[in-house]
Amino acid sequence: MRDSANTPASAECVFCKIARKEIPVREIERTEDAVVFADLDPKAPCHLLVIPARHAENLGAFAAEAGERAVGALFALASKVGREASEAGAYRIVVNEGAEAGQTVFHLHLHVLAGRRMGWPPG
Ligand code: 5GP
Ligand code: ZN
Repeated sequence: MRDSANTPASAECVFCKIARKEIPVREIERTEDAVVFADLDPKAPCHLLVIPARHAENLGAFAAEAGERAVGALFALASKVGREASEAGAYRIVVNEGAEAGQTVFHLHLHVLAGRRMGWPPG
């Protein structure tokens, strides 16, 4: 595993910096364990990112390190902000895990997209 909570990599991690409020974002919600903020380069009228405050490289690492209850809480938060963001109650949660799947920031994040019709399958 390349990154974990206490490695130097988390000091340089852009989403750790956002969680520590060292990089400004449009913050939507913050809990003890998670932050929700607007994506810098939105792919839908509403494009939010839900991240654990504590560094984990991806969903698998987060599940192993923080446990299934924490995974559930993160998805429940994504579901809540998705429902709040969409008048139609329609939203999509996306997790890109691994570079080949489109992951570019190696700190777990759930994309929450809403406000337009979504295509299927995703590209
Ligand atoms: P990935 O490609 O890893 O699934 O998604 C990373 C997302 O993070 C991208 O949608 C990108 O626009 C967003 N992003 C990267 N850096 C920043 C940043 O500094 N601030 C914000 N708000 N979003 C970021
Ligand atoms: Zn991080």
